[in-house]
Amino acid sequence: MSLGKKILLLLKDEISEIEYKRYISQLSYDLESSKSDLAIFNAPNPLIANWAKTRYAKKIAHLFEVETNVQTDVQIKLKKESSETIKDVLVAKPVQQKANKISLLNPSYTFANFVVGSSNQFSYTAAVSVAESPAKGYNPLFIYGGVGLGKTHLLQAIGNVIQENGGSVIYTTIEQFLNDFTRHMRNQTMDRFKEKYRKCDILIIDDIQFLSGKKQTQEEFFHTFNDLHAQSSQIVLAADKHPKQIAGLEERLQSRFEWGLVADIQPPELETKIAIIKKKCELDRVALSNEIINYIATIISNNAREIEGILTKLHAHATLMNQEITLEFTKNVLKEQIREKRDSITIEHIMTIIAKELNIKPSEIRSKSRSRNIVYARRISIYLCRTLTPNSMPTLAQYFGMKDHTAVSHTMKKISQMLKEDENFRLKVEELSNKISLDDNSK
Ligand code: ADP
Ligand code: MG
Repeated sequence: MSLGKKILLLLKDEISEIEYKRYISQLSYDLESSKSDLAIFNAPNPLIANWAKTRYAKKIAHLFEVETNVQTDVQIKLKKESSETIKDVLVAKPVQQKANKISLLNPSYTFANFVVGSSNQFSYTAAVSVAESPAKGYNPLFIYGGVGLGKTHLLQAIGNVIQENGGSVIYTTIEQFLNDFTRHMRNQTMDRFKEKYRKCDILIIDDIQFLSGKKQTQEEFFHTFNDLHAQSSQIVLAADKHPKQIAGLEERLQSRFEWGLVADIQPPELETKIAIIKKKCELDRVALSNEIINYIATIISNNAREIEGILTKLHAHATLMNQEITLEFTKNVLKEQIREKRDSITIEHIMTIIAKELNIKPSEIRSKSRSRNIVYARRISIYLCRTLTPNSMPTLAQYFGMKDHTAVSHTMKKISQMLKEDENFRLKVEELSNKISLDDNSK
């Protein structure tokens, strides 16, 4: 049965039998002209066309969206000579329906394309295990970690495996879940909502942190969760925080999220970043030397999402200017990106990192102490605040409790001298500078 036919049958449940017979059963789905986000129906005469348009088009659009998760425009046209009705019936197309569902999962988010390192091994292993035997081990699986660390990738990899194995998968974000819920409430089609979310083998919900403070969604999600869990459907969730740390999350949900396995993803180490860049190069068919790959790995923050942007940028520039991608070229192309990052660095951020790295309190760095390690830390702080932030020398003098800007200028000269003469010192300053520029909190 075509998707359009199926939708009309669903509509049948919602309207009177006479209405259905008189109008809806007369419509035929135009399979050829319809697209995944546009459904066209043909009506035999203007009366039915108009009637259907004003009375049912909205409802039909809604049903499409519920069924396929794709927002669909519905058009009702006057039938032309050659009717598509027969074709519509003959070319049975659960396929089309499936295609809509598949498009929600990114086919390149697979386990094979996921680079495993110690930072993400735990979540990766848990995800593979869930994909291989859903609802047998960890239920729910809750993955958490910072932005761009691969949570969505792992979630969809699970979905892709289960879908390949013939299971029915719902992948959605908590925001979509909320929208869907609200719409069904409004249209008084809650039973449809329930059916949709409770009749799947696996429900995967991303960005769970947005449940925070949304009482009604939490309530609904709570029931969805319980039903799925009771009927042994797998649930997989991801958030940027541990369930305990999501503010405004009901305790009963929080505790349920911890029923199965809570797995974290940490920021990748340098080797993992390099491996991810190599993987993306391979997928995007961009050839880069190891030197360039290493360079990119040191300038990106922990967010692997930046990699794709960088590769696209490099590739576009190189093609446009008909130039080979060299290290020099890469540095030039990415200059702005680095500058942007630096623009967002604050004095406080620098102080936090230096204090942590050198194991000294920020207040000590700003104190007048003459002890050696504090003087050392203060000098580096002043130097890095001056070079990495747009603050003026008078501002810095005030911040560090110095007499005036000449004192800052003096320190800057002193450090420049030390950088020239002392290789170890230079490396240390460079390391700190990189840590500061590359840290995600600087945003
Ligand atoms: P999150 O959902 O945690 O914010 P994503 O899953 O959207 O992060 O990942 C961002 C991008 O980085 C995606 O393109 C993803 O494929 C890629 N990525 C992240 N971690 C890895 C990894 N370990 N291996 C391969 N690609 C990764
Ligand atoms: Mg994500």
